[in-house]
Formats: sequence, structure tokens, C-alpha cells
Amino acid sequence: MDLFAPAEATAGLQLRERQDIPDRFKWNLSHIFPAWSEWQGAYDDLERKIGAYAALQGTLAKGADRLLAAMKLSDDIGQLTYKVWYFASLKHDEDQRDNQINARRQQVQILFAKANQACAWFNPELLQIPLPTVQQWLDANAELAVYRFAIEDLYRQQEHVLDEKGEHLLSLASRFASTPNDAYSALSTADVKHPVVTLSTGEVTLTYGQYRAILATNRLQSDRRAAFEEFHGLFESSVNTYASLYHSVLQRDLFFSQARGYRTTLDAALHGNNIPTAVVENLIDTTKAGAEPLRRYHRLRKRVLGLDTYHNYDTAIPLVDFDRKYPYEDVLEWLPASVKPLGQEYERQMRRGLASEWIDVYENPGKRSGAYSAPVYGVHPYMLLNYNDTLDAVFTLAHEMGHSMHTLLSHAHQPFVYSAYTIFVAEVPSTLSEMLFLD
Ligand SMILES: [Zn+2]
Repeated sequence: MDLFAPAEATAGLQLRERQDIPDRFKWNLSHIFPAWSEWQGAYDDLERKIGAYAALQGTLAKGADRLLAAMKLSDDIGQLTYKVWYFASLKHDEDQRDNQINARRQQVQILFAKANQACAWFNPELLQIPLPTVQQWLDANAELAVYRFAIEDLYRQQEHVLDEKGEHLLSLASRFASTPNDAYSALSTADVKHPVVTLSTGEVTLTYGQYRAILATNRLQSDRRAAFEEFHGLFESSVNTYASLYHSVLQRDLFFSQARGYRTTLDAALHGNNIPTAVVENLIDTTKAGAEPLRRYHRLRKRVLGLDTYHNYDTAIPLVDFDRKYPYEDVLEWLPASVKPLGQEYERQMRRGLASEWIDVYENPGKRSGAYSAPVYGVHPYMLLNYNDTLDAVFTLAHEMGHSMHTLLSHAHQPFVYSAYTIFVAEVPSTLSEMLFLD
């Protein structure tokens, strides 16, 4: 969930090849599919269902049971999509240099674009039916009533839904939408040449994990500065390419927001979750107004650390000389113990997750940086970490575990159509998990 998730590997912790890492520290994707052949079978099944959905065009006005059939098939497609996408995507993140796997991941993206086209008719066709008619159907049909919120929410967004031609055209454009992110990931991970820096401790290859660990553990400012300059030099050497990728992200968002008739990209981003723009503006103002204690904290850090100048690379080093390591195995006991206030069942489920190969723990060459929790509907959540024995890494695990528990409970207790939570509430359980752990 986090683009800028904290810390990854420890300086001194040797970067191991993936096959040298014991299985209990790696996620087990055979819980999704035993092998690529089963994945292919599901992929073909998904493609058939997408075709069947396209064939429903023109049927909705015939009545409640036709609408229900479309909603149910859409659920089927959605559930299968989770498995087909995540199997390829998580495999890709194990080693982003593997082009065969990346090709399969892109194969799914192409299918998604097809699905977008095959579903583009639905919203405009439904909105042709007056809302009171659909509401009568919802009142009379208990199975359809499950979808009431989703359906009424679409009517709320009516003015930003285009006609069938317009929706079809937008669905064709959607296949380019992930291009800037894909190119960023290729440039920053798959094609990256990690620089080597000479520190007072010797030569270090600056992977993302090693870099973060140096900032968090190396007490010599000149070492941290050398690592910082070398690491950012890596990005600076492609600065125009990164700028151009970011520009593409902005242009993409502007394109979709203008195409749907939103005033700004912010309006477009918030309207789906029905959040007033003022909420975001308030959040920014409140954060700015409350920044002084943080500034004071950093002035204090500068003094306590005895530094003449204070830089970005000085913000992660602990104030006291304390190099305690937090081995992953220790945390496996602390973390479930910390959630006791949430009840036995919550704790039990967390222990099960920690013991069942849901988590990809350590960094390896080609692995995606950062950390996330992936909600694989119908299986269980998976977590990617780059665990490096620092306290920061422990909190990252607590954070991602909060997301995973949220996923687990939401998938278990919500109908599929509402099982995915919105970004606006997503960081509540993850932050709660960190707070409980801190206690
Ligand atoms: Zn998060």
C-alpha cells in the first residue's frame, strides 16, 4: 500500500539469491494456483466470461433478473481477476528481471483492457433506465437488493458517465494508463545498476534496502552523505526520463478527468468515493498548521546529534547509539501479542497468517523494493517486505499486517461487490496496528 514504505535491508545483512532463502521466509503462491498451467486455465476461463458479459449488452431494460445476471457475472469476473492478476504480478515482484513472467503479467493487462471494452456498455445502458424503475426492482428482488448501494452510487455519478461510444473509446485508451508506472518500474528496478560506494566500513553495493539501512544505522555523517549522493546520483543520471514519466502520469490523469467532465483531477479522484474537495484541503491546511512541533523535533535532533549542518540523510539515525537488531523470528511472537485488545479471534487469525507462508520477508536481487499487502480474494492476503532487522522494518511489518487483517475480515464478512475497501479508510487499520505494537 505504501509507495514510500520505510526501510528494507540491513547493512551487513548479506543480499542472498532467492533460492538460498528458506521457504518459510517466502510467500507460497501455490495457494493461488499450483503452477502456470492452472493459471493459464483460469486465464482462459476469465476470457470466456468476459466474452459472455459483452453478450449481455442490450438486455438490462428487460427486467430485474437480467440486471441481476449481469451483476453476478461481473462478480464472477472480479473474483477470478484477483487470482489471475496477482499470481502473475506477485511472481513478477519476486524478480522483476524475468521477462517471461513479465510477459504473462502484461498478458493479463491486455485482458484487462479487453474486459474494460467488454464492460463499457453497462453504465450508460443502466443509466438509460430511470432510477425509480430500478429502485422498484431492488425493492422486489432480495438477491438484487445486495447491489443497491453500488447501483445507486452509479446514478450519483451519472453526469460523468459518457454515452456508449464515449465509454468504449475511453476503455480503448485505458490500455495506455499503466505505461508510465510500468516504465518507471523497469527503469528503477529491472534495469537498475546499483552503484557501489566506499564508506569508512568498506565497499557497499547500494540496493534500495542497503541505502535505507545505512541512513538508519551508520553513525558517521560523512558515510550517510556519501551514500545519499551516490544513491541520488543514480536517479539524477536519468533525470529527464523520470521527469518525462511523471509528466505522463499528470497528462494521463488530466485526460481522464477532462474526458469525464470533471473540473480538476482532484475532483475526479475524489468523486468516486463521494468525498468533498474541502476534506482534502482541510487535511493539507491542518497538517501545515501543525508542522511546527516536527520542525522543533528536527532542530532538537540536530543539537543532540552534535551536527553542524542537518540534512535529509540525518533524519533516520537514532539519537542514541543503539544498534539493537530485531530478528524476524522474534517479531513473529511480539506482533500477535500486541493485538490482544482486539480479541482472541483477531490474534488467532494473525498467528495463522504469520505461520502460513503469506509473507515474502527478505530482499533478493531483482525483487521489488518497499512493502505492500496484496488482497487476493478467495485465497488470502500476501505481504511483500524487504525485512532488514531494523525497528523501522518491524513497524513496516506491523503496518502491512494491519492492511492484511483488514482485507481478511472484509473479504470474510462483506458481499464481494463491497469487499474492497476505499483508499480513504485503508490506512486506519494499518496505523492502528502500528500504535498497538508501539504500546
Ligand atoms: Zn499503508
